[in-house]
Amino acid sequence: MTTARDPVIAIDGPSGAGKGSVSRALAQALGYRYVDTGAMYRAVAWMAVHNGLALDDEPALGRLAAEAELTLDQQTVTVEGHDVTAAIRTAEIDAAAARVARVPAVRDALVSRQRGFAAAGGLVMEGRDIGTAVFPGADVKIYLDASADERASRRASDTAHGMGRDGADLSDVAHALAARDQSDRTRQSSPLVMADDAVLVDTTGIGLDAVVARVISIVRERLETGP
Ligand code: C5P
Repeated sequence: MTTARDPVIAIDGPSGAGKGSVSRALAQALGYRYVDTGAMYRAVAWMAVHNGLALDDEPALGRLAAEAELTLDQQTVTVEGHDVTAAIRTAEIDAAAARVARVPAVRDALVSRQRGFAAAGGLVMEGRDIGTAVFPGADVKIYLDASADERASRRASDTAHGMGRDGADLSDVAHALAARDQSDRTRQSSPLVMADDAVLVDTTGIGLDAVVARVISIVRERLETGP
């Protein structure tokens, strides 16, 4: 049987729910490409900060998001040829990314770039609006969640985002995460919300390996049985 395009798996949810680890493992198990759309918002925020742009300058930010040379492979993010893989994971860029993500022209430009990834082979795409806005017709949609406390403590022990980084302790991480969540859930343009046809996986108290196994089995079953 031929399909119009290769399968698209959407993985959405708030920060610290485990989307990154689960999406990478799923992509590897299926032999699909993995795309982290949060890294794209982070890259735009990094460029805006680097170029001294105001984080509410919609025309300038929209141009940046549409035109900047941006590459994402499985390990590395580059912007205009600079490797920004580590530079986009600071507390400053956490907050700046959530701000530029509120700007409609930025979202329009990045969503259109994100849709372009579907042309080439199966895709696991993680973000906040993949199942609702980027690929409303995705073959499988997973919404990963966990309690706020657990998401904060996971984030704090994540070496890329963790405690000690920028002198932060657990309560700083929890506060910053809550502020970002609030911004993502209440923005006007594509707020973070679970798609009606997504499968909710609550990862509170469940180890990563068990979550990955659960998600792989849900996805395999859905891909076999169809919508
Ligand atoms: O997933 P990550 O924490 O790297 O995302 C950084 C920020 O980018 C989020 O806080 C959110 O504001 C924004 N984002 C978004 N839509 C996506 C992915 C990320 O608004 N699809």
